[in-house]
Amino acid sequence: MAVEQLLILIKPDGIKKSLTGNILTKLSEARMVIIGAKAVKVSKELAEAHYYQLKDKLFFGELVDYIQGKIYGEPYDRVLAFVYQGEDAILRMRKIAGATNPEEADPVSIRGAYGRITTKGVYENVVHCSSDQLEAAREIKLWFKPEDIVKEIYPTKKITVEKEAKTIWT
Ligand code: UDP
Ligand code: MG
Repeated sequence: MAVEQLLILIKPDGIKKSLTGNILTKLSEARMVIIGAKAVKVSKELAEAHYYQLKDKLFFGELVDYIQGKIYGEPYDRVLAFVYQGEDAILRMRKIAGATNPEEADPVSIRGAYGRITTKGVYENVVHCSSDQLEAAREIKLWFKPEDIVKEIYPTKKITVEKEAKTIWT
């Protein structure tokens, strides 16, 4: 048994269907802790980087639009991103999330209960769940800054950035 971290996203269809509470309740059954959480408007660059392994698939363009919430628009064009930590977190959370294809997923899993296949053939499966530890580390570093996570889970270093424009509260 190993303590693992993973990235969970509540995708725009989950937001649109008002499933945030249900999804977090189902995930909480695994007794994992949340060590990072935020709402994100997903840029095209972030979407493409997140799904880079699927870039040669015919559905890649649709997938990028989907994770950006393009078809839903304001106020659903966003995702909720979470970093979870716990024993064997990846396998256990993926079991609760269910299989990629919502029609094949266990009906009691999140994807089985709430997912659908669109008329364009995209699996709108409500949540993203990292698939292994390497992918989890890549994804967490892509979506979160070190200071957005309440624990230091990966090595960090200090750098000095000069003349960088920053937005602060007035
Ligand atoms: N996807 C799809 N059609 C497919 C395979 C994947 O629409 O034939 C979408 C689906 O939303 C999935 C995402 O692409 O969650 C990423 O695919 P992956 O194979 O990584 O599945 P996951 O790890 O999300 O179960
Ligand atoms: Mg995957």
